[in-house]
Amino acid sequence: MARRRIIAGNWKMNMTPSQAKELCATLKDLVANDAVDVVYCVPAIDITTVVEAVAGTNVKVGAENFYIEDKGAFTGEISAPMLKEAGVEYVIMGHSERRDIFGEDDILINAKVKKAFAAGLKPILCCGESLAVRKAGTYVDWVKRQITWDLYGVTADQVKELVIAYEPIWAIGTGETATADQAQEVCKMIRETIADLYDAATAEAVRIQYGGSMNAGNAAELLSKDDIDGGLIGGAALKPDFGQIVNA
Ligand code: PEP
Repeated sequence: MARRRIIAGNWKMNMTPSQAKELCATLKDLVANDAVDVVYCVPAIDITTVVEAVAGTNVKVGAENFYIEDKGAFTGEISAPMLKEAGVEYVIMGHSERRDIFGEDDILINAKVKKAFAAGLKPILCCGESLAVRKAGTYVDWVKRQITWDLYGVTADQVKELVIAYEPIWAIGTGETATADQAQEVCKMIRETIADLYDAATAEAVRIQYGGSMNAGNAAELLSKDDIDGGLIGGAALKPDFGQIVNA
């Protein structure tokens, strides 16, 4: 089965609303490719601006985070139904920056996966190992464990809609990219893990991205690999290079 390519930008804590509008205008023609799902995952404050700016184009809007309750006394947080009503379709969870800086663990991430689906949002679930784990040679077990915990109680039909982003932490924002073979090895293992946890049809359907210093120069090789269905892009998502990645 041919899986549809998905190229998502993770803008992180960059772009004021006026800068976001400008970036959408800069990228508009560069990312116009109907054969690819193109997603801008943007700061919450930019969502309304970006939804308006990409209306009528092939670009979908994603969020970078939310909290697992629908509403209530959670000062500073945003809920999944709020994102949905604002026009968001995808939402990132399990990003290493949220795991490491904000202490999010697999139990919370699992709750986020379920809440996103309940609210009609598609999760982009991130996983990946640190440099220490990579050097210790235990990265396969590490990523397998993350996926297994994060998907506990999630149905096969939901997993078919899921996007998993393999993001080795040592390659995020460092300029050091995993080689295409290193990325393929882990993305293949993720698909095999989904086959073990669910079934072959679910493993065949789930889309797996690579993320970590993907850029205009290395995207084509990474995306040529059998189990790499797209990319989650940080730094290069804020530049015209993003268009080259979409069309790689
Ligand atoms: C990311 O943080 O999701 C990411 C992949 O960042 P970068 O492309 O900058 O390494």
